[in-house]
Amino acid sequence: MIGHGLNDFYAVQDAVPDDEGLVELAMIPLADLVVFPNMITPLMIRREQDIAAVGEAQTNQTTVIGVAQRDPNLTMPRPEDLYTIGVEMALGRLMHMPEGGTTVLSQGRRRVEIVEYIQTEPYTRVKARPITECAADDREITALTRATLSLFQKCVDLNPQLPEEAYIYALNIEEPGWLADLAASALNLTLTERQTLLETSDVVERLRRVSRLLGRELEVLELEERIQSQVRQEVERGQREMFLREQIRVIQHELGEMDIFQQELNDLRERIDQAQMTGEARDKAVKELGRLMMIPPMAPEVGIIRTYIDWLLDLPWIKATDDNLDLDNAAGVLDAEHYGLRKAKERILEHMAVRQLAPDKMKSPILCFVGPPGTGKTSLGKSIAKALGREFVRVSLGGVHDEAEIRGHRRTYIGALPGRIIQTMRRAGTINPVFMLDEIDKLGADFRGDPAAALLEVLDPEQNHAYSDHYLDVSYDLSQVFFITTANYMEPIPWALMDRMEMIEFPGYVEEEKLRIARQFLIPRQLEQHGLSDQGIRFDEKALRLMCREYTYEAGVRNLEREIAKVCRKLARRVAAKKQSARRITVEGLDKYLGPPLYISMLVEEEDAVGVVTGLAWTEGGGDITVIEVSLMPGKGMLMLTGQLGDVMQESAQAALSYTRSRVTQWGIDPEEFDRLDIHVHLPEGAIPKDGPSAGITLAAAFISAFTDRKVRRDVGMTGEITLRGRILPVGGVREKVLTAHRLGLRKVLLPQRNKKDLVEIPKRTLRDLDVVLVNHMDEVLEHALLPVAHDIGTQ
Ligand code: ADP
Repeated sequence: MIGHGLNDFYAVQDAVPDDEGLVELAMIPLADLVVFPNMITPLMIRREQDIAAVGEAQTNQTTVIGVAQRDPNLTMPRPEDLYTIGVEMALGRLMHMPEGGTTVLSQGRRRVEIVEYIQTEPYTRVKARPITECAADDREITALTRATLSLFQKCVDLNPQLPEEAYIYALNIEEPGWLADLAASALNLTLTERQTLLETSDVVERLRRVSRLLGRELEVLELEERIQSQVRQEVERGQREMFLREQIRVIQHELGEMDIFQQELNDLRERIDQAQMTGEARDKAVKELGRLMMIPPMAPEVGIIRTYIDWLLDLPWIKATDDNLDLDNAAGVLDAEHYGLRKAKERILEHMAVRQLAPDKMKSPILCFVGPPGTGKTSLGKSIAKALGREFVRVSLGGVHDEAEIRGHRRTYIGALPGRIIQTMRRAGTINPVFMLDEIDKLGADFRGDPAAALLEVLDPEQNHAYSDHYLDVSYDLSQVFFITTANYMEPIPWALMDRMEMIEFPGYVEEEKLRIARQFLIPRQLEQHGLSDQGIRFDEKALRLMCREYTYEAGVRNLEREIAKVCRKLARRVAAKKQSARRITVEGLDKYLGPPLYISMLVEEEDAVGVVTGLAWTEGGGDITVIEVSLMPGKGMLMLTGQLGDVMQESAQAALSYTRSRVTQWGIDPEEFDRLDIHVHLPEGAIPKDGPSAGITLAAAFISAFTDRKVRRDVGMTGEITLRGRILPVGGVREKVLTAHRLGLRKVLLPQRNKKDLVEIPKRTLRDLDVVLVNHMDEVLEHALLPVAHDIGTQ
C-alpha cells in the first residue's frame, strides 16, 4: 500500500516560482508534527478544508504546503496560530482507514516561508517563498558531517527502535543539510526543537544543533544501557550462584556430607522437641531451624543460626529448683557458715517465713549488701542459696560501661552474644537461682548507653518477667530469680537502682570478731584444704591477734584468711617432707611463716607535735587514719595543700581556716600573722586519695595548734564536718572509724554529737576500751586535743 503511495510522489513536480520568486499552493496545518524535506511521513487528515486541499492538489498534480501549529491542540487554527516556515510536500493517494479517519503519505520537498494567505475557504491557499539553503565553509561542513554521522551511528547502535538501515541510509546521503534533517526526524525531539531545526536554513548551524541533540540523546541511551546491563549482570550472578549452589548440593550429596548435615538438623529438631521451653522460645527455635534447612550447609549463616539455636536450647526456661522453706534448716545453714551478720540473716529468715504463709504473692526481695571487701557478702549469698536449695551464680558489674554488656548485641552484629544476665542464667541452669550482681557501685555510663538503665529492667519486679535481651530476641522470665547486689559504698549507686533495693550493711569486724571468725571458720577450712586437719595444728591467740594487727589492715577477713593459708602452705610442705615442725603457731614463730610484719602501728609511739592532728577517715577498705600536718612559714598568707586531697577536702580546709581567723582573739593569735605567713597543709601517706568533709575539725585543730604553738595529742582521733561558726556536723562511717581507732590503739575519739545514734552498732567492749567523746562545737575539740603551751609530751 505504501509502495503504491510512493509511486504517486514522483509524478508530482515542485511548484515553479513566479517572477517574484513565490509559489502559490494549498496549505494544510500539521497538528503535532514537523515534516522535514526528503522525509516520507504519513499525515492524518481530518478537517473538511484539509480534505479539500488534498483533493485539489491531487486533481491538479501539484504539491501542498505543510506548516506546524504552534499549539497542537487547536482544531481550527488561524493563520496567526501557525509557524511561518513550513515544508512544500508532495502527497500520495488519500486513503480511508478502516477505523475511520483519512491518511495520506507525504514526501517533504523543500523549506518554504509563507508570505501571504490568499484564501481560507473552502481550503487555505498561500503564497510562499522557497528557501535556498546556504552552506558556507566546506571544511567545517565536512567535519560536522562526519561528527554527526558518527554520533548517529552510535545512537542507532544503542537505540533498538532505530533500524540498522537508518545508518546505511544516512551514510549514503551526500547533502549535509539532508543528513541533518534525517537525524532530526529520527531523534526523539519536542515539537519546538523540530520546528527550530526546520527554521535553521544555515546548514552549518543546523548540523551543529543536530549534533548537540545527538550527543544528548547518546548520553541518555548510554545511561539506559548501563542500567540495563547492571540489571542483567545481577540476574546473571543470581543464576550463576543458584547453579553453583545446586552443584555443591549434588557434590555434598555424593560425598555423604549432606547426610551429616541432615542428620545434624534432625538432631536439632529432636532437641527442640524435647527441650523444656516456653511456647515463644520454641516457636523461635523452630523458625530458625526452618531457616537453617533452607540454606546450603556451607553458607556462613549456618554457624550463626546454629549458635543461636544452641543458646535457646541451653537456657533454662522452665526448669526450677523447689525452695526449701524450712526455717530451722535455713537458720542452721546460715549460722553454720557465718559468724554474726545478724541483720542479713534475719532478713532472709523473715522472707522465708512470709513465703511459707503466702507462697504465690511474695516476690523475692532485692537485697543490696553494702560493706568493705572481705566482710562475707559473697559467702553469705552462697549460704542463702544453699539454705533455700537454689543454684548460686554471680557476675561482676565492675567497670561495665556498655549497655550491650548487660543486654547483649543484636544478632546482626558479627560475633554477637547475649548479655551478661542471660549468659549467667545459662550457667545457673534453672530459672530461680540466687543471682549475685557484684560491684553495683562501680557501674559506669558513657556514650554506649547506660548499663544502669538496663539493670533497672532486670531488677524491676513489674517488668522482669519479660526481660528482653538484644541477642535473644525472645522475652525471658527473670521474675523468679533471687537477686542480691553487692557494693563497697552506698553513694555511687544510681538513685533509681537504690530505690529498688533493700540495703543491708555489712560493717567491718572488730578484732574479737575476727578472732572468732578465724577460729570457727577460716582456720578449720584452711587446714582442711591443705590436708592438715588431723595434724593437731593450733594457732595461739596472741599470734592470731598479731596477724590481725600487723600482717593485715582491713575491715573484713579476706587477707587474714590469706595469711592463714600462707601459714598452712608452709606447714603442709614440712609435713609432706616429713620434717619435724611445731604444731603450735606462736607469736615468736610467726615471722618464720609470714616474714616481717607489714603494718606496724607507729601511732602510739609518735610524739605529740604542733600542727599534727590524727583524723579518722573512711576508705573502701573500711576505716583509716589520716594524719594532717600544718606548718607555717614566712610568706604572704597563702594556703597551700599537698598530698592527695579531693575538691571537697580543699573546700573544707578553706572553711576551717576561715573559722580559725574568726577566732583570733579567743586564742590570742596576732591577726597580722595571716598576712605574714604561708600556711602549708599536707596529708602524708597519701597514696589513697582522700576526700569528703569529715576532716573539717581535724584541719581546724591543726590550724589552731600551728598558730598558737600548742601541741596536739596524737592519741586523740577525730572526725566531723565544721561550719564557719565552729559547729560540728555529723559524718558517715562512724563504726568503721571507731573500730580502726581502736585497732590502732588510740585512746580517745572525738565524734559529732549527732552521730550518737551510730554508737549502738559498735561492740560494747570496744566502747569500754576507748574514750568516745561526743562534741558539738570546735571549742570542745580543742579542749580535748590541744595540750597547754607549757606542758610537755603526754602529761595531760
Ligand atoms: P566480700 O564478698 O564481702 O568481699 P567474701 O564473702 O568473699 O567477702 O568473704 C571473704 C572470706 O571471709 C570468705 O572466705 C568468707 O567465708 C569469710 N568470711 C567473711 N565474713 C565471715 C563471717 N561473718 N563468718 C564466716 N566467714 C566469714
